Amino acid sequence: MSLSISEALSESKQLAGYSDSSRLDAELFLAAALNCSREYIYTWPNDEVSRRQLNTYHSYLERRRGGEPVAYILGRQAFWDFNLTVNESVLIPRPETEQLVEWAIDLLSCCSSDCVHIADLGTGSGAIALALASTNHFWQLSAVDVSEGALKVARMNAEELNLTNIDYIHASWCDGFTQDKFDLIVANPPYVAKGDPHLREGDLPFEPELALISDESGKADIRQIAQSSREFLKDDSWLLLEHGYDQKQEVEIILKRLGYKDIECRQDYAGIDRMTIGKWFV
Ligand code: GLN
Repeated sequence: MSLSISEALSESKQLAGYSDSSRLDAELFLAAALNCSREYIYTWPNDEVSRRQLNTYHSYLERRRGGEPVAYILGRQAFWDFNLTVNESVLIPRPETEQLVEWAIDLLSCCSSDCVHIADLGTGSGAIALALASTNHFWQLSAVDVSEGALKVARMNAEELNLTNIDYIHASWCDGFTQDKFDLIVANPPYVAKGDPHLREGDLPFEPELALISDESGKADIRQIAQSSREFLKDDSWLLLEHGYDQKQEVEIILKRLGYKDIECRQDYAGIDRMTIGKWFV
């Protein structure tokens, strides 16, 4: 059996009820199976899809029907200016985390660029560290993760992007630092409470629990990061944290009690309280 591109795409119906973006998913799967761009698919709807390509495409559709995230099926996720490699060892980078990067860049804009040192705690795929490292090649990034699997993915992404201003630390939060002092410590830590019903929705059941779930109703890791970062922040420098939609006040209290000043929360584009900064004075 052979099908044209447009006939193959009409099979996106199979994903109805399994995905909110069935047509887009199918386009991405077909483009990957054909090793071409989505634009090619629109331009050449009558091109024939070979049997081998069709098999690959069908295997993607099948996996998607099983709930697997598109990013894990294709092994890629767009973030910032890049197309990152991702796998089950890492959280799939979210668009709202790009706003965390934008805020980090704003905070760093007043630093003279020659000796800026930034830590990305729980780097996962490297998304935040890579976006910052590519913004200014003089900035030095420390990408930290407790998961060897995640660090492997982060390294792979950095290599593909030719970014060399990153070092990798296999440790939990600040445990791997010694004499280091940073101009900014940024983290998208796990902040979802154990048993939260969101964990059963969308892509989350496939993502590493280590990157999602935290004790104390999702606050334990935020508290630990805020506490241990104080020792490794330069005077007048910032801690920037992503957090859950309902954690603004609790994060503010944690930072205040630990002595951070100028605490401010910002919303993401969806209007959700999503990230908070605190300034550290020695
Ligand atoms: N923002 C993610 C979600 O709720 C969670 C990521 C995280 O815990 N850092 O889908």
